[in-house]
Amino acid sequence: MHPSLKHLIALQSVDRRAAELRQQLSSFPARFAELERQLAAARKLLDDSRAALTKSLTDRKTLELDVEQWKQRIRKYKDQTAEVKSNEAYRALQHEIAQAEIELARAEDRLLERMVAAEELERQLREAERTLRAAEASAAAERSQLEAEQVNLERALAALADERERVLRVLPTDLLNLYQKIARKHGGVALAEVREETCSACRVRIRPQVYQELRRPDNDQIFHCESCTRILYCAEHDAAGVAHSSTP
Ligand SMILES: [Zn+2]
Repeated sequence: MHPSLKHLIALQSVDRRAAELRQQLSSFPARFAELERQLAAARKLLDDSRAALTKSLTDRKTLELDVEQWKQRIRKYKDQTAEVKSNEAYRALQHEIAQAEIELARAEDRLLERMVAAEELERQLREAERTLRAAEASAAAERSQLEAEQVNLERALAALADERERVLRVLPTDLLNLYQKIARKHGGVALAEVREETCSACRVRIRPQVYQELRRPDNDQIFHCESCTRILYCAEHDAAGVAHSSTP
């Protein structure tokens, strides 16, 4: 194995883990936003419930006024009855009173309906208040859990950055440049392990002599996959195995 290849493998491992952590971290803004969205929905439910109850109470006042006006009208007609001189006028007033009583009964029915509806709206309002309190409690718990997870991931990422620094200190610059050039082209993955004489990244077979060279313990060359150009390496046990089996 090329003497610096183990450092490249270490670098690749660090970079892959860091990419994974960054990927995980990138989901956090959306997860925090989802918590806020749930809270906003619970708050809106409460606001809507309050508005519905307020409107219902306003309507109720109008209906109460309606009932009161019909009652006054009936009283007025009754007062007038005492003063009428003709039977005809008396009958006409009786008719007005009967009509007004029908209207009064209707207005009272509407008022009663509204009072029953208000009870239901009050129940819904209490329910919405409970829902919001529960949503706030669970959002607070989830938020601190998410924050803790985020801090852990950021710490792990910082540790990987330190590890990367250590690798870079021992890695020759030309190899680092080569690694970065290939990594940029291949989504951050510049190295490919050879498994069963095949590049594990692109599945193309490796030429036999390259494969033999690659597995020689004293090999000091860097080999690339002829198809994807990634830097090839054999796993340690694999290389050792070849050294062993090639010994007569
Ligand atoms: Zn390949």
